[in-house]
Amino acid sequence: MINDNWFEEKSYFGKVKMGWKIRKVLHSEQSKFQKIDVVETEAIGKLLLLDGKTMVADIDEFVYHEVMAHIPYAVSRSCKKVLIIGGGDGGVVREFVKHQDIEQIDLVEIDERVIEVSKEYFPDCTSGLDDKRVNILPEDGMAFIKTKKNFYDVIIIDSTDPEDFASGLFTQSFYQDVYDALTEDGIMMNQTENPFYDEYGIKKIYRNMQKAFPVVQSFNAPMCIYPGVFWTFGFSSKRFKPTDIKPAKRNHMDAVSRNLKWYNLDWHKGAFSLSNFHKKMTGL
Ligand code: SAM
Repeated sequence: MINDNWFEEKSYFGKVKMGWKIRKVLHSEQSKFQKIDVVETEAIGKLLLLDGKTMVADIDEFVYHEVMAHIPYAVSRSCKKVLIIGGGDGGVVREFVKHQDIEQIDLVEIDERVIEVSKEYFPDCTSGLDDKRVNILPEDGMAFIKTKKNFYDVIIIDSTDPEDFASGLFTQSFYQDVYDALTEDGIMMNQTENPFYDEYGIKKIYRNMQKAFPVVQSFNAPMCIYPGVFWTFGFSSKRFKPTDIKPAKRNHMDAVSRNLKWYNLDWHKGAFSLSNFHKKMTGL
């Protein structure tokens, strides 16, 4: 909700309110799928909102986008074909295009307007979208995934919360479709919400992932624009553990991470050592 120069997000059934002072409302529209706003804030730079919920902000977008892309890339034995479902802000694509051996990056975003608005207001995030390896497909990821079998090396689910047209992206049957679309060494990464307020039942999401994948692990990274800040991510794979970094990629990852703001190999190796609380809430 935008009111009196403040943006306020009401979460957790109206029990929690987060807010930032706004300098300017830069953009507002109702797309076919959702309300899209971009505001310039006093404290966190530009902020993209979908249906009044925080998606991406200048202050911490690099955390989310770097971990989603570089963890699976570093573990994958042959990362040639990548699929991103959601992610219309372009941030995850920007990170993948930093790896020259990737041949194909498909971005399946249901709402083309999110991509267009992001191009206008978040040009750094969308800077990878013009790379010739990137294909932008304005489709529902749930239907798209059923058309692919044994095809992608890495699949990223960069979705909104488990509500409305994104709710299916957290189900067992969807994770099974993702499994089938992956090659035999395939890896899936997804955002899995905040375990403190646990609005959407994280344990159930992880159970659904475990029913489809033999290897399921989790980590967290701070996202100051999301309610509760402590944000969890899932790593699921057919064979490799998230700490099985491909030995031949170590030098390359060291070189790439010199120009990153969050990710490096030391952080990657430690990220999967979970607290008791994280283990309990995810059931891992
Ligand atoms: N990093 C963000 C977060 O965790 O809040 C997510 C950002 S990204 C903008 C999420 C995108 O997922 C949205 O643009 C939305 O349109 C897209 N999306 C949601 N459900 C989808 C679906 N079923 N298929 C494809 N894209 C979907």
